[in-house]
Amino acid sequence: MIVAKGIPVSEGIAISRIFKYYPRAGIEIPQECKASEKEVEKLSKALEEYKKYLNELLNVVEESERDLLQAYVLIAETFVSEARELVENSNVCGELAIKQVLDKYVELMEQSSSELFALRKSDLTDIALALVELLRGGRVSGDVVGVKDRIVVAEELTPTVFFRIQRAGVKGIITATGGITSHVAILARTYGIPYVILPSLDMTSIGDDVIAIVDGFDGKVVINPSNELMEEYMKKVRILNELRDVLKKYAFEKAKTLDGYEVEVLCNIGNVEEGRVASTQGCEGIGLFRVEYLYMSSRPPAEEVLVNTFTKVANFFEGKPVVIRAPDLGADKPPPFISIREDNPLLGLRGIRFLLEYRNEVLKPFLRGFLKAYAQSKNLRLMIPMVIKPSEVYEFIDVMNDVAQELGISYVKDLELGIMVETPAAAVLIDKFAKIPQLKFVSFGTNDLTQYVLAVDRTNPRLVRMYNELEPSVLRVIVRGVNEARKHGLKVEICGELASKSIAIPILLAFGFRSLSINPRYTGAIKYIIKNTRVQQFEQLLDAILNADEPSVVEELVIKTLQGYNADSRPLLLFSKYRS
Ligand code: PEP
Ligand code: MG
Repeated sequence: MIVAKGIPVSEGIAISRIFKYYPRAGIEIPQECKASEKEVEKLSKALEEYKKYLNELLNVVEESERDLLQAYVLIAETFVSEARELVENSNVCGELAIKQVLDKYVELMEQSSSELFALRKSDLTDIALALVELLRGGRVSGDVVGVKDRIVVAEELTPTVFFRIQRAGVKGIITATGGITSHVAILARTYGIPYVILPSLDMTSIGDDVIAIVDGFDGKVVINPSNELMEEYMKKVRILNELRDVLKKYAFEKAKTLDGYEVEVLCNIGNVEEGRVASTQGCEGIGLFRVEYLYMSSRPPAEEVLVNTFTKVANFFEGKPVVIRAPDLGADKPPPFISIREDNPLLGLRGIRFLLEYRNEVLKPFLRGFLKAYAQSKNLRLMIPMVIKPSEVYEFIDVMNDVAQELGISYVKDLELGIMVETPAAAVLIDKFAKIPQLKFVSFGTNDLTQYVLAVDRTNPRLVRMYNELEPSVLRVIVRGVNEARKHGLKVEICGELASKSIAIPILLAFGFRSLSINPRYTGAIKYIIKNTRVQQFEQLLDAILNADEPSVVEELVIKTLQGYNADSRPLLLFSKYRS
């Protein structure tokens, strides 16, 4: 039995066998080699296996990726057919033949290459390398087909791979890299998949198929657990399920504090299906639709896809707000169809900067899709990510007006426009933003705001212990921004992960937030906390909170105060962190 301590990222307990996930790495292909007698046959077999693999992959990829996979089949057929000719005419081995075909097409592509649509080259490489792996008798790396009911162990996961393993039925996740507010972490919490980051992870020391436990509460990973430990964990799972059931019923109640303040509980989603599920989980609208996942493909989504997506989500929440965020691409969400080389992407071309740079390729088509959907669904709102000054918002509005004019529509002035407050610059300029007539609301994106206030990369596992939204420095920036926004008549919302953290709720309410946008899984727990909070008590504590030296002091103050007047504080304690 091996017990390793890591970082808890998504709560819950998974007990299952391990599946080791390796992304496709560079593969050495010999410079020279001769064809064997069966070379042509081997090529045909590799093609058949690859087609079978793509077919299985179709079940676990996003709808938007399906067309691409169909194209993969055609490309693979071309590759193999041309490689076959090379084998027959030049007597080279299959691997080298595939490489030569790949080089030919990459060269052709590069002659017309631009920064845009760079995936086409990586697509070809991906296909060629998969064929080479199969020619060598291995499995396709990056294969997620066997993960059903398994615990996936990987160096790193991207959101695209996350969605594949989630659809394939993953039970738990262990990675060496990542952070607690990285996007894979947020997704794991959304889908209730226990997840632990283990910076010391050495994949080679863990066997495929061995039994493991992922304890997403304490950040523990156990490999080959003893029978006693297995029993202990099974008991924990039962207790957690009971508690989850208790909290579930609060999800559908109105969230009103003990001293009578009503709080709107909206939710964060990343696709239509999550929107549908959210509408059945007590969410009172959508405070953040992360549309970036629609862009994780070889090309931006078609206009009709955008219109359909936004309209569907708007319909799930008729009469309630649905906030669509303009795509926050770049940094930790790089779009595959544009290759941006930057030394410092987190401080680079992302959010509004990216949109204004690629206005013709990305922003305008997005706005066309959004405005067409808005024409039918007036509960849609629009939010701009990563702003640092009002001129960016004015430029965005200019582009939006141009698009509206092209579409021949004039309803843009009624649209509720908001900005995300996720840079310190935005937080200290709220009075200036408030002068923009179209601007109606601000939403605090505490995931990025924390990383930029603390200068701590939210995806760096070595800095996880430094990344804490309850650092008084972060709280001071938030409270100052909230006060300014309220003073200038802007509606104030929060959509960062901090709003899904039970321990933070009394503080956020004391700051003046009356609208929270949270992970849909936490509606029960968060409404429970709201209903058990006396805001005025926490308003009196604000000085102590903002003057604390450490986040742990802030946590203690909150817990002690809640316990002081709640008869049954057990769920409050259990849900003191990211708990569902
Ligand atoms: C945030 O930064 O808090 C936020 C909600 O946006 P994202 O996590 O998508 O960067
Ligand atoms: Mg952000």
